[in-house]
Amino acid sequence: MRLSQFHLRTTKETPADAELASHKLMLRAGMIRKLASGLYSWSPLGLRVLRKVEAIVREEMNRAGAVELLLPTIQPRELWEETGRWEKFGGQLLKITDRKEQHYCYSPTAEEAITDFARQELSSYKQLPVNFYQIQTKFRDEIRPRFGVMRAREFLMKDAYSFHLDDASLVAEYENMKAAYTRIFTRLGLEFRAVQADSGAIGGDASQEFHVIADSGEDALAFSTASDYAANVEAAIAADPAPRPAASQAMHKVATPTQKTCDAVAELLGITLQQTVKSVAAVTAAGQFVLALVRGDHEVNDIKLGKLEGMADYRLANEAEIVAHLGAQPGFLGPVAPQQAIRVIADRDAAALADFVVGANENGFHLAGVNWGRDLPEPEVADIRNVVAGDRARDGGELKLARGIEVGHVFQLGRQYAQALKATVLDENGKAQVMAMGCYGIGVSRIVAAAIEQNHDEAGIIWPESMAPWQVVVCMINPKNDPAVTAAAQDLVTELQAKGLDVALDDRGLRPGSMFADIELIGIPHRVVVSERGLAAGTFEYRSRRASEAENLDREQLLARLG
Ligand code: ATP
Ligand code: MG
Repeated sequence: MRLSQFHLRTTKETPADAELASHKLMLRAGMIRKLASGLYSWSPLGLRVLRKVEAIVREEMNRAGAVELLLPTIQPRELWEETGRWEKFGGQLLKITDRKEQHYCYSPTAEEAITDFARQELSSYKQLPVNFYQIQTKFRDEIRPRFGVMRAREFLMKDAYSFHLDDASLVAEYENMKAAYTRIFTRLGLEFRAVQADSGAIGGDASQEFHVIADSGEDALAFSTASDYAANVEAAIAADPAPRPAASQAMHKVATPTQKTCDAVAELLGITLQQTVKSVAAVTAAGQFVLALVRGDHEVNDIKLGKLEGMADYRLANEAEIVAHLGAQPGFLGPVAPQQAIRVIADRDAAALADFVVGANENGFHLAGVNWGRDLPEPEVADIRNVVAGDRARDGGELKLARGIEVGHVFQLGRQYAQALKATVLDENGKAQVMAMGCYGIGVSRIVAAAIEQNHDEAGIIWPESMAPWQVVVCMINPKNDPAVTAAAQDLVTELQAKGLDVALDDRGLRPGSMFADIELIGIPHRVVVSERGLAAGTFEYRSRRASEAENLDREQLLARLG
């Protein structure tokens, strides 16, 4: 590829409306152009990267035994009504009307379309298991499209759907897909983690997300140092705390006239935050008053609390409700001697405390030296807090926190879609059986942005080798149009290509400074400079994108380096 015949268009200016490094760099490198909110054109340069990602995904899906097909992006309303998702999918579903007033949607995902395909194509257990996949454009009318192709409205997804006679077969394919995803993200050269997800809304039995680790990621993750345990912070679970020590203090009231937070109380009393207990007042859907207690250094996790018996759709209590049940203002609340019967739920770590400090249910006062079972009844104990960095993991390791970008998702869907769409096959006994399904997504276009988040510096993008638009660019410095320089550069390109490398020749005739800045900005892993001076010395100037200095290498050294 000669860059003079390609279309490269880079800019020095940082685009004003881009926040993330990847968004800025994709615009500056000229990989994408915005057409409208959440809609991006991929330039020839951007498309080269997208196609490389796609190719790796396709190769590994094929290797894993999945078979590629292609479903329409425009899908009829009637099909989506069969699963109830025409309404349930909500605002993200783009609805379209044709000239005959027929209603359609633009596919945000394709469980309906693939299950329709499957119910027509599959009739016998002998055809199972089978895993169909496509690499196809999706549209989701995201509330806040942002960060360029990271959260776009139109994007490229690889979506796969497997069909099974029984659950054991589904579980086996789920594991097979997890292994395939691990190979895909490893080949892409990304630092990633498979993370336990909360499969709540979509339903189904088991699900894991694959996250690229990046500080700018939208998701907070916790992972263990002792195993591959990783989970969204919302779902992460720490080890049980050490057993509660014996009581050593008598309960006593302390004046805390202006101290309304655990921090302030701990400071006043000269104790650690870990000896204090924070009270969060809530009301259940059935109207029951609840006091949720966590240690002063912990935070209540809404999702965990909401999963407890009777706590679905709970809300925070208002001041009138608090005063009526506890007899004090927020800031001085606690579980000891409430005015009315209340439900007390203590986090495991709060329940493991002895001699702790908590609000006295009297304005301006706290109680110190409080002990469960002696000064108040034993509480209902549950895990209701967010994990924090440094928590002990259940596998004995330490929990660390990181941020991640979700690039893939695997689900055991079960039978809900097949049931709704009556997708059955005949089993060995000739009896119709509803098929079990798995689904497996990868955000192909998002991966491009995620890779940049993980790999960039002030000069621009640093592509992992497997995703780079070209692995090597041979830069020609030839102001005098010396035919020997041109010939040497072209020879080198041919030789490197023969070694299987993806190589471009920068023959645009730019001054070295601008040429090198472009090649760095667009993230090419290896740069080789051919110049008159180098030829005279019998060397090429080589620089790895990750190295700070260039080196002069002779032909053999260069070929060995790029081998
Ligand atoms: P998110 O939580 O980021 O919205 P999701 O849970 O809605 O993702 P899935 O329905 O599992 O995503 O879709 C499969 C994959 O498609 C995701 O793992 C992600 O990589 C990608 N994806 C989802 N929404 C977008 C989007 N708006 N722009 C780009 N990629 C997306
Ligand atoms: Mg989403």
